[in-house]
Amino acid sequence: MRSVLVFCLAVAGLSAQAQIPGNPVGPRLGTVLELDVDLPGPGALALLGEAGYNIGHFSDPSRVTIYATPEERDRLMADGYTVREVARQPAPPEFDEGAKGLGVYHSYTSLTNELLAYAGDHPAIARLVTLGASVSNRQLWALLITDNPDEEEDEPEFKYVSTMHGDEPVGTEMCHYLIDRLLTAYGTDSRVTDLVNETEIWIVPLMNPDGLESGSRFNANGIDLNRAFPDFPVDYVGTFHDGDPLDDAGRQPEVARILRWTADRRFVLSANFHTGAVVVNYLYDHIPGIPTGVDAPTPDNALIRALSLEYSTHNPPMFASLTFPNGVSNGSEWYSITGGMQDWHYRYMGCIDATIELAVPKKPSQSLLPIYWANNEESMLSYLEAVHRGIRGIVTDADTGLPLDARITIQGNLQPVFTDPDVGDYYRLLLPGAYTVVVEVPGYFTQTIPGVVVSAGSATRVDVEMNVIPLPAARPIALVLTGVSLVAAAGLIRRKRWRANRG
Ligand SMILES: [Zn+2]
Repeated sequence: MRSVLVFCLAVAGLSAQAQIPGNPVGPRLGTVLELDVDLPGPGALALLGEAGYNIGHFSDPSRVTIYATPEERDRLMADGYTVREVARQPAPPEFDEGAKGLGVYHSYTSLTNELLAYAGDHPAIARLVTLGASVSNRQLWALLITDNPDEEEDEPEFKYVSTMHGDEPVGTEMCHYLIDRLLTAYGTDSRVTDLVNETEIWIVPLMNPDGLESGSRFNANGIDLNRAFPDFPVDYVGTFHDGDPLDDAGRQPEVARILRWTADRRFVLSANFHTGAVVVNYLYDHIPGIPTGVDAPTPDNALIRALSLEYSTHNPPMFASLTFPNGVSNGSEWYSITGGMQDWHYRYMGCIDATIELAVPKKPSQSLLPIYWANNEESMLSYLEAVHRGIRGIVTDADTGLPLDARITIQGNLQPVFTDPDVGDYYRLLLPGAYTVVVEVPGYFTQTIPGVVVSAGSATRVDVEMNVIPLPAARPIALVLTGVSLVAAAGLIRRKRWRANRG
Protein backbone atom coordinates (compact mmCIF):
# COMPACT_ATOMS: atom_id res chain seq x y z
CA MET A 1 0.00 0.00 0.00
CA ARG A 2 2.76 2.36 0.96
CA SER A 3 4.77 1.55 -2.17
CA VAL A 4 1.68 2.17 -4.31
CA LEU A 5 1.16 5.49 -2.59
CA VAL A 6 4.79 6.47 -3.01
CA PHE A 7 4.64 5.50 -6.68
CA CYS A 8 1.48 7.56 -7.25
CA LEU A 9 3.00 10.59 -5.58
CA ALA A 10 6.23 10.16 -7.51
CA VAL A 11 4.20 10.19 -10.72
CA ALA A 12 2.27 13.19 -9.45
CA GLY A 13 5.60 14.91 -8.78
CA LEU A 14 6.81 14.27 -12.30
CA SER A 15 3.59 15.31 -13.95
CA ALA A 16 3.70 18.49 -11.92
CA GLN A 17 6.66 19.63 -14.00
CA ALA A 18 4.31 20.36 -16.84
CA GLN A 19 1.97 22.43 -14.71
CA ILE A 20 3.82 23.54 -11.56
CA PRO A 21 1.11 25.15 -9.48
CA GLY A 22 2.44 28.31 -7.90
CA ASN A 23 5.56 28.30 -10.07
CA PRO A 24 4.86 30.26 -13.23
CA VAL A 25 8.35 29.49 -14.53
CA GLY A 26 10.26 26.27 -14.01
CA PRO A 27 11.18 23.61 -13.14
CA ARG A 28 14.79 24.65 -12.82
CA LEU A 29 16.72 21.45 -13.41
CA GLY A 30 20.46 21.25 -14.04
CA THR A 31 22.64 24.24 -13.21
CA VAL A 32 21.01 27.09 -11.31
CA LEU A 33 22.83 30.39 -10.87
CA GLU A 34 22.55 32.52 -7.75
CA LEU A 35 22.52 36.01 -9.22
CA ASP A 36 22.93 39.42 -7.68
CA VAL A 37 20.75 41.64 -9.88
CA ASP A 38 20.71 45.45 -9.81
CA LEU A 39 17.24 46.99 -9.59
CA PRO A 40 17.11 49.99 -11.91
CA GLY A 41 14.01 51.50 -10.29
CA PRO A 42 11.24 51.00 -7.74
CA GLY A 43 9.01 49.11 -10.18
CA ALA A 44 11.67 46.62 -11.24
CA LEU A 45 11.08 44.11 -8.42
CA ALA A 46 7.41 43.81 -9.32
CA LEU A 47 8.28 43.31 -12.99
CA LEU A 48 10.78 40.54 -12.15
CA GLY A 49 8.24 38.83 -9.90
CA GLU A 50 5.50 39.01 -12.52
CA ALA A 51 7.90 37.57 -15.10
CA GLY A 52 8.23 34.47 -12.89
CA TYR A 53 11.84 34.86 -11.76
CA ASN A 54 12.66 33.06 -8.49
CA ILE A 55 13.41 35.87 -6.07
CA GLY A 56 15.42 34.60 -3.10
CA HIS A 57 16.01 37.62 -0.89
CA PHE A 58 15.86 41.31 -1.06
CA SER A 59 17.63 43.32 1.62
CA ASP A 60 18.88 46.35 -0.26
CA PRO A 61 16.41 48.36 -2.36
CA SER A 62 18.95 48.55 -5.15
CA ARG A 63 19.66 44.81 -5.53
CA VAL A 64 17.92 41.45 -5.41
CA THR A 65 19.03 37.80 -5.32
CA ILE A 66 17.54 35.67 -8.09
CA TYR A 67 17.96 31.93 -8.66
CA ALA A 68 18.01 31.47 -12.41
CA THR A 69 18.78 28.97 -15.11
CA PRO A 70 21.46 30.07 -17.60
CA GLU A 71 18.63 30.83 -20.06
CA GLU A 72 16.94 33.08 -17.51
CA ARG A 73 20.23 34.88 -16.86
CA ASP A 74 20.63 35.47 -20.60
CA ARG A 75 17.10 36.86 -20.75
CA LEU A 76 17.78 39.17 -17.80
CA MET A 77 20.90 40.50 -19.48
CA ALA A 78 19.11 40.88 -22.81
CA ASP A 79 16.48 42.93 -20.97
CA GLY A 80 19.22 45.26 -19.74
CA TYR A 81 19.67 44.10 -16.16
CA THR A 82 23.14 44.18 -14.59
CA VAL A 83 23.77 40.69 -13.28
CA ARG A 84 26.56 39.22 -11.13
CA GLU A 85 26.90 35.48 -10.57
CA VAL A 86 27.46 34.76 -6.85
CA ALA A 87 27.32 30.96 -6.80
CA ARG A 88 26.12 27.89 -8.68
CA GLN A 89 23.83 25.06 -7.67
CA PRO A 90 23.68 22.18 -7.17
CA ALA A 91 26.80 22.30 -5.01
CA PRO A 92 26.78 19.15 -2.84
CA PRO A 93 28.31 19.98 0.55
CA GLU A 94 30.98 17.77 2.07
CA PHE A 95 29.36 16.18 5.08
CA ASP A 96 30.89 14.28 7.97
CA GLU A 97 28.46 11.36 7.92
CA GLY A 98 29.49 10.50 11.48
CA ALA A 99 28.68 13.99 12.77
CA LYS A 100 27.18 13.88 16.23
CA GLY A 101 26.03 16.41 18.75
CA LEU A 102 25.28 20.11 18.64
CA GLY A 103 27.00 22.83 16.66
CA VAL A 104 27.77 20.77 13.55
CA TYR A 105 26.04 20.66 10.19
CA HIS A 106 24.34 17.31 9.70
CA SER A 107 23.72 15.41 6.51
CA TYR A 108 20.37 13.71 5.99
CA THR A 109 21.88 10.43 7.23
CA SER A 110 23.61 11.81 10.33
CA LEU A 111 20.50 13.84 11.20
CA THR A 112 18.37 10.70 10.85
CA ASN A 113 20.68 8.87 13.24
CA GLU A 114 20.47 11.71 15.78
CA LEU A 115 16.67 11.81 15.62
CA LEU A 116 16.41 8.04 16.05
CA ALA A 117 18.70 8.28 19.08
CA TYR A 118 16.70 11.12 20.66
CA ALA A 119 13.42 9.22 20.24
CA GLY A 120 15.01 6.02 21.54
CA ASP A 121 16.55 7.73 24.57
CA HIS A 122 13.36 9.60 25.57
CA PRO A 123 10.48 7.17 24.94
CA ALA A 124 8.21 8.78 27.54
CA ILE A 125 8.07 12.15 25.78
CA ALA A 126 9.26 11.69 22.16
CA ARG A 127 8.06 9.93 19.02
CA LEU A 128 9.79 10.01 15.65
CA VAL A 129 7.48 9.58 12.66
CA THR A 130 7.92 10.05 8.93
CA LEU A 131 5.52 12.26 7.04
CA GLY A 132 6.46 10.32 3.89
CA ALA A 133 9.25 10.41 1.35
CA SER A 134 10.84 13.13 -0.77
CA VAL A 135 11.23 12.89 -4.56
CA SER A 136 14.47 10.91 -4.06
CA ASN A 137 12.92 8.72 -1.37
CA ARG A 138 14.38 10.37 1.73
CA GLN A 139 12.07 10.64 4.72
CA LEU A 140 10.54 13.86 5.99
CA TRP A 141 11.09 13.25 9.71
CA ALA A 142 8.83 14.77 12.33
CA LEU A 143 9.69 14.50 16.01
CA LEU A 144 6.78 14.86 18.44
CA ILE A 145 7.75 16.03 21.92
CA THR A 146 5.02 15.92 24.57
CA ASP A 147 3.97 13.97 27.62
CA ASN A 148 1.77 10.96 26.74
CA PRO A 149 2.93 11.11 23.10
CA ASP A 150 0.59 8.29 22.03
CA GLU A 151 -2.56 10.05 23.27
CA GLU A 152 -4.60 12.90 21.82
CA GLU A 153 -4.94 15.33 24.72
CA ASP A 154 -6.53 18.69 25.42
CA GLU A 155 -3.29 20.45 24.42
CA PRO A 156 -2.46 22.91 21.62
CA GLU A 157 -0.37 21.67 18.71
CA PHE A 158 2.67 23.67 17.64
CA LYS A 159 5.25 23.07 14.93
CA TYR A 160 8.62 24.26 13.74
CA VAL A 161 9.57 23.29 10.17
CA SER A 162 12.98 24.02 8.69
CA THR A 163 14.94 24.03 5.48
CA MET A 164 12.36 23.75 2.74
CA HIS A 165 15.15 25.46 0.82
CA GLY A 166 17.88 22.81 0.89
CA ASP A 167 20.74 25.33 0.88
CA GLU A 168 19.53 27.02 4.11
CA PRO A 169 20.57 24.56 6.85
CA VAL A 170 20.91 26.82 9.91
CA GLY A 171 17.31 26.19 10.98
CA THR A 172 17.87 22.43 10.86
CA GLU A 173 20.61 22.84 13.46
CA MET A 174 18.56 25.32 15.54
CA CYS A 175 15.79 22.68 15.61
CA HIS A 176 18.41 20.15 16.70
CA TYR A 177 19.48 22.43 19.58
CA LEU A 178 15.84 22.94 20.59
CA ILE A 179 15.12 19.20 20.51
CA ASP A 180 18.14 18.61 22.72
CA ARG A 181 17.12 21.37 25.14
CA LEU A 182 13.51 20.13 25.45
CA LEU A 183 14.42 16.46 25.87
CA THR A 184 17.41 16.79 28.19
CA ALA A 185 15.97 19.53 30.44
CA TYR A 186 12.62 17.77 30.87
CA GLY A 187 12.01 16.90 34.49
CA THR A 188 14.65 19.27 35.87
CA ASP A 189 13.88 22.65 34.24
CA SER A 190 10.33 23.62 35.22
CA ARG A 191 9.83 25.91 32.22
CA VAL A 192 10.72 23.16 29.75
CA THR A 193 8.80 20.55 31.73
CA ASP A 194 5.64 22.67 31.70
CA LEU A 195 5.98 23.34 27.97
CA VAL A 196 6.38 19.65 27.15
CA ASN A 197 3.56 18.61 29.51
CA GLU A 198 1.11 21.19 28.18
CA THR A 199 1.92 21.29 24.44
CA GLU A 200 2.13 18.91 21.49
CA ILE A 201 5.39 20.13 20.01
CA TRP A 202 6.21 18.93 16.50
CA ILE A 203 9.60 19.58 14.92
CA VAL A 204 10.41 18.88 11.26
CA PRO A 205 14.08 19.85 11.03
CA LEU A 206 14.49 19.09 7.33
CA MET A 207 11.60 19.51 4.86
CA ASN A 208 13.82 19.33 1.74
CA PRO A 209 16.35 16.52 2.37
CA ASP A 210 17.12 16.13 -1.35
CA GLY A 211 18.01 19.83 -1.58
CA LEU A 212 20.23 19.61 1.49
CA GLU A 213 22.14 16.65 0.07
CA SER A 214 22.59 18.16 -3.39
CA GLY A 215 23.25 21.70 -2.13
CA SER A 216 20.22 23.15 -3.87
CA ARG A 217 17.47 25.59 -3.00
CA PHE A 218 15.02 23.42 -4.95
CA ASN A 219 13.71 19.88 -4.53
CA ALA A 220 14.88 17.08 -6.81
CA ASN A 221 12.25 18.09 -9.40
CA GLY A 222 13.79 21.57 -9.59
CA ILE A 223 10.88 23.21 -7.77
CA ASP A 224 11.00 25.91 -5.08
CA LEU A 225 8.83 24.34 -2.36
CA ASN A 226 7.94 27.74 -0.91
CA ARG A 227 6.28 28.66 -4.22
CA ALA A 228 4.46 25.33 -4.63
CA PHE A 229 1.66 25.43 -2.04
CA PRO A 230 -1.98 25.95 -3.05
CA ASP A 231 -2.52 29.64 -3.56
CA PHE A 232 -5.57 31.82 -3.39
CA PRO A 233 -7.78 32.20 -5.32
CA VAL A 234 -6.17 30.97 -8.54
CA ASP A 235 -5.28 27.61 -7.03
CA TYR A 236 -8.20 27.46 -4.61
CA VAL A 237 -8.62 23.90 -3.31
CA GLY A 238 -11.21 24.63 -0.67
CA THR A 239 -10.98 24.68 3.07
CA PHE A 240 -10.25 21.27 4.43
CA HIS A 241 -11.86 21.86 7.81
CA ASP A 242 -14.96 23.32 6.17
CA GLY A 243 -15.64 19.92 4.67
CA ASP A 244 -13.92 20.15 1.30
CA PRO A 245 -11.54 17.36 0.34
CA LEU A 246 -7.84 18.16 0.42
CA ASP A 247 -6.70 18.24 -3.18
CA ASP A 248 -2.99 17.51 -3.33
CA ALA A 249 -3.02 16.22 -6.92
CA GLY A 250 -0.07 17.54 -8.88
CA ARG A 251 1.71 18.86 -5.80
CA GLN A 252 5.36 18.18 -5.17
CA PRO A 253 5.79 15.15 -2.86
CA GLU A 254 7.29 17.26 -0.05
CA VAL A 255 4.42 19.75 -0.27
CA ALA A 256 1.81 16.96 -0.38
CA ARG A 257 3.34 15.46 2.80
CA ILE A 258 3.00 18.74 4.65
CA LEU A 259 -0.56 19.29 3.33
CA ARG A 260 -1.75 15.87 4.52
CA TRP A 261 0.03 16.05 7.86
CA THR A 262 -1.29 19.53 8.60
CA ALA A 263 -4.81 18.58 7.51
CA ASP A 264 -4.83 15.58 9.86
CA ARG A 265 -3.99 17.79 12.83
CA ARG A 266 -5.06 21.15 14.25
CA PHE A 267 -1.93 23.22 14.45
CA VAL A 268 -2.45 26.50 16.28
CA LEU A 269 0.91 28.21 15.77
CA SER A 270 4.01 27.44 13.75
CA ALA A 271 7.11 28.88 12.13
CA ASN A 272 9.41 27.83 9.32
CA PHE A 273 13.12 28.63 9.14
CA HIS A 274 15.26 30.01 6.34
CA THR A 275 18.46 31.97 5.78
CA GLY A 276 19.38 34.85 3.48
CA ALA A 277 18.29 37.66 5.83
CA VAL A 278 17.55 38.17 9.54
CA VAL A 279 13.85 38.93 10.04
CA VAL A 280 10.49 37.48 10.99
CA ASN A 281 8.45 37.65 7.79
CA TYR A 282 4.78 37.55 8.78
CA LEU A 283 1.47 36.89 7.00
CA TYR A 284 0.45 37.53 4.27
CA ASP A 285 3.11 36.96 1.64
CA HIS A 286 0.53 37.86 -0.99
CA ILE A 287 -3.01 39.09 -1.51
CA PRO A 288 -4.16 39.16 -5.14
CA GLY A 289 -4.29 42.76 -6.27
CA ILE A 290 -1.83 44.11 -3.66
CA PRO A 291 1.51 44.77 -5.36
CA THR A 292 4.87 43.67 -4.05
CA GLY A 293 6.31 46.14 -1.55
CA VAL A 294 2.89 46.94 -0.07
CA ASP A 295 1.58 45.63 3.28
CA ALA A 296 -0.92 42.75 2.89
CA PRO A 297 -2.48 42.32 6.34
CA THR A 298 -4.53 39.40 7.64
CA PRO A 299 -7.66 39.87 9.81
CA ASP A 300 -5.27 39.11 12.73
CA ASN A 301 -2.63 41.68 11.82
CA ALA A 302 -2.08 43.13 15.31
CA LEU A 303 -1.90 39.66 16.88
CA ILE A 304 0.46 38.38 14.21
CA ARG A 305 2.74 41.41 14.55
CA ALA A 306 2.82 40.82 18.32
CA LEU A 307 3.74 37.16 17.82
CA SER A 308 6.49 38.15 15.39
CA LEU A 309 7.87 40.63 17.91
CA GLU A 310 7.77 37.89 20.54
CA TYR A 311 10.40 36.16 18.41
CA SER A 312 12.45 39.17 17.31
CA THR A 313 12.68 40.99 20.66
CA HIS A 314 14.57 38.05 22.16
CA ASN A 315 17.04 37.89 19.27
CA PRO A 316 19.32 40.95 19.72
CA PRO A 317 20.81 41.15 16.19
CA MET A 318 17.35 40.59 14.66
CA PHE A 319 15.70 43.24 16.83
CA ALA A 320 18.49 45.72 16.04
CA SER A 321 18.07 45.24 12.27
CA LEU A 322 18.77 48.32 10.20
CA THR A 323 16.79 46.86 7.30
CA PHE A 324 13.62 45.76 9.09
CA PRO A 325 12.28 47.90 11.98
CA ASN A 326 12.39 45.75 15.15
CA GLY A 327 13.34 42.74 13.01
CA VAL A 328 9.87 42.09 11.59
CA SER A 329 8.19 42.68 8.23
CA ASN A 330 4.96 41.84 6.52
CA GLY A 331 5.79 39.35 3.75
CA SER A 332 4.18 41.29 0.93
CA GLU A 333 5.70 44.53 2.13
CA TRP A 334 9.15 42.92 1.89
CA TYR A 335 8.47 41.18 -1.45
CA SER A 336 5.42 39.20 -2.33
CA ILE A 337 5.47 35.55 -3.35
CA THR A 338 2.71 33.20 -4.47
CA GLY A 339 2.37 29.57 -3.42
CA GLY A 340 4.08 30.15 -0.06
CA MET A 341 3.60 27.78 2.87
CA GLN A 342 2.64 30.30 5.54
CA ASP A 343 -0.29 31.78 3.60
CA TRP A 344 -1.65 28.27 2.98
CA HIS A 345 -1.44 27.34 6.65
CA TYR A 346 -3.35 30.41 7.73
CA ARG A 347 -5.94 30.55 4.94
CA TYR A 348 -6.72 26.88 4.72
CA MET A 349 -5.93 25.49 8.17
CA GLY A 350 -6.48 28.42 10.53
CA CYS A 351 -2.89 28.01 11.77
CA ILE A 352 -0.69 31.08 12.21
CA ASP A 353 2.68 30.50 10.58
CA ALA A 354 5.75 32.76 10.23
CA THR A 355 8.72 32.63 7.88
CA ILE A 356 11.78 33.29 9.99
CA GLU A 357 15.10 34.21 8.38
CA LEU A 358 17.97 33.36 10.73
CA ALA A 359 21.18 34.49 9.03
CA VAL A 360 22.32 36.69 6.15
CA PRO A 361 24.75 34.07 4.78
CA LYS A 362 22.87 31.08 3.41
CA LYS A 363 25.20 28.70 5.24
CA PRO A 364 27.43 30.48 7.76
CA SER A 365 30.58 28.87 9.12
CA GLN A 366 29.85 25.88 11.35
CA SER A 367 31.83 27.52 14.16
CA LEU A 368 29.12 30.21 14.38
CA LEU A 369 26.26 27.79 15.09
CA PRO A 370 26.56 28.16 18.90
CA ILE A 371 26.22 31.94 18.47
CA TYR A 372 23.12 31.52 16.33
CA TRP A 373 21.66 29.26 19.00
CA ALA A 374 22.47 31.81 21.70
CA ASN A 375 20.58 34.42 19.65
CA ASN A 376 17.59 32.16 18.91
CA GLU A 377 17.14 29.99 22.00
CA GLU A 378 14.97 32.41 23.97
CA SER A 379 13.10 33.42 20.81
CA MET A 380 12.26 29.81 19.95
CA LEU A 381 11.05 29.08 23.48
CA SER A 382 9.07 32.33 23.88
CA TYR A 383 7.36 31.96 20.50
CA LEU A 384 6.48 28.37 21.41
CA GLU A 385 5.00 29.47 24.75
CA ALA A 386 2.78 31.99 22.94
CA VAL A 387 0.61 29.06 21.75
CA HIS A 388 -0.95 29.14 25.23
CA ARG A 389 -2.51 32.62 24.93
CA GLY A 390 -6.03 33.70 23.94
CA ILE A 391 -9.06 31.45 24.35
CA ARG A 392 -9.21 27.67 24.57
CA GLY A 393 -11.84 25.09 25.40
CA ILE A 394 -13.65 21.90 24.48
CA VAL A 395 -16.81 21.73 22.35
CA THR A 396 -19.15 18.81 23.10
CA ASP A 397 -22.68 17.59 22.41
CA ALA A 398 -24.80 18.68 25.40
CA ASP A 399 -26.67 15.36 25.49
CA THR A 400 -23.97 12.82 24.80
CA GLY A 401 -20.90 14.70 26.04
CA LEU A 402 -19.07 13.58 22.91
CA PRO A 403 -16.52 15.94 21.28
CA LEU A 404 -17.62 17.82 18.16
CA ASP A 405 -16.01 19.05 14.97
CA ALA A 406 -16.73 22.73 15.53
CA ARG A 407 -15.84 26.02 13.88
CA ILE A 408 -14.97 28.91 16.18
CA THR A 409 -14.83 32.56 15.19
CA ILE A 410 -14.51 35.85 17.02
CA GLN A 411 -17.20 38.39 16.21
CA GLY A 412 -15.79 40.98 13.83
CA ASN A 413 -13.05 38.65 12.58
CA LEU A 414 -13.82 36.10 9.87
CA GLN A 415 -10.72 33.98 10.45
CA PRO A 416 -11.91 30.66 11.92
CA VAL A 417 -10.22 27.99 13.99
CA PHE A 418 -11.48 24.43 14.30
CA THR A 419 -11.72 21.88 17.07
CA ASP A 420 -9.72 18.71 16.96
CA PRO A 421 -12.71 16.35 16.67
CA ASP A 422 -10.92 13.54 18.55
CA VAL A 423 -10.98 15.54 21.78
CA GLY A 424 -13.13 18.55 20.85
CA ASP A 425 -10.43 21.01 21.91
CA TYR A 426 -9.84 24.35 20.19
CA TYR A 427 -7.40 27.26 20.63
CA ARG A 428 -7.92 30.80 19.40
CA LEU A 429 -4.84 33.00 19.82
CA LEU A 430 -5.83 36.57 20.73
CA LEU A 431 -4.38 39.76 22.14
CA PRO A 432 -5.66 40.87 25.57
CA GLY A 433 -9.20 42.30 25.37
CA ALA A 434 -12.88 41.32 25.52
CA TYR A 435 -14.32 39.18 22.74
CA THR A 436 -17.57 37.56 21.56
CA VAL A 437 -17.00 33.94 20.63
CA VAL A 438 -19.20 32.22 18.02
CA VAL A 439 -19.28 28.40 17.92
CA GLU A 440 -20.86 26.61 14.95
CA VAL A 441 -21.48 22.93 14.27
CA PRO A 442 -23.69 21.82 11.36
CA GLY A 443 -26.99 20.46 12.76
CA TYR A 444 -26.58 22.31 16.10
CA PHE A 445 -27.81 25.68 17.32
CA THR A 446 -25.03 28.23 16.93
CA GLN A 447 -23.78 29.59 20.24
CA THR A 448 -22.71 33.19 20.68
CA ILE A 449 -20.80 33.90 23.90
CA PRO A 450 -20.20 37.60 24.64
CA GLY A 451 -17.81 39.22 27.09
CA VAL A 452 -14.99 36.67 27.07
CA VAL A 453 -12.01 38.44 28.63
CA VAL A 454 -8.51 37.55 27.49
CA SER A 455 -5.49 38.52 29.60
CA ALA A 456 -1.82 38.67 28.67
CA GLY A 457 -1.23 35.39 30.48
CA SER A 458 -2.60 31.88 29.98
CA ALA A 459 -5.58 31.31 27.71
CA THR A 460 -9.11 31.89 29.04
CA ARG A 461 -11.04 28.62 29.06
CA VAL A 462 -14.44 28.60 27.32
CA ASP A 463 -15.92 25.10 27.13
CA VAL A 464 -19.08 24.92 25.03
CA GLU A 465 -21.94 22.41 25.07
CA MET A 466 -23.91 22.40 21.83
CA ASN A 467 -27.61 21.54 21.45
CA VAL A 468 -28.88 19.60 18.45
CA ILE A 469 -31.49 21.33 16.27
CA PRO A 470 -34.48 19.05 17.05
CA LEU A 471 -36.27 17.15 14.31
CA PRO A 472 -40.03 17.73 13.86
CA ALA A 473 -42.26 15.29 15.84
CA ALA A 474 -41.92 11.82 14.34
CA ARG A 475 -45.51 11.27 13.18
CA PRO A 476 -45.67 10.37 9.50
CA ILE A 477 -42.42 8.97 8.16
CA ALA A 478 -42.45 11.46 5.29
CA LEU A 479 -42.29 14.33 7.78
CA VAL A 480 -39.30 12.76 9.57
CA LEU A 481 -37.52 12.44 6.27
CA THR A 482 -38.27 16.08 5.52
CA GLY A 483 -36.84 16.99 8.91
CA VAL A 484 -33.66 15.06 8.21
CA SER A 485 -33.38 16.81 4.86
CA LEU A 486 -33.87 20.18 6.51
CA VAL A 487 -31.12 19.51 9.03
CA ALA A 488 -28.88 18.26 6.26
CA ALA A 489 -29.72 21.36 4.22
CA ALA A 490 -28.98 23.59 7.22
CA GLY A 491 -25.59 21.93 7.50
CA LEU A 492 -24.97 22.41 3.79
CA ILE A 493 -25.94 26.08 3.89
CA ARG A 494 -23.67 26.63 6.85
CA ARG A 495 -20.80 24.95 5.04
CA LYS A 496 -21.37 27.16 2.02
CA ARG A 497 -21.44 30.20 4.25
CA TRP A 498 -18.14 29.14 5.83
CA ARG A 499 -16.62 28.90 2.41
CA ALA A 500 -18.02 32.27 1.44
CA ASN A 501 -16.61 33.81 4.61
CA ARG A 502 -13.19 32.49 3.80
CA GLY A 503 -13.39 34.06 0.38
ZN1 LIG B 1 14.38 30.07 2.17
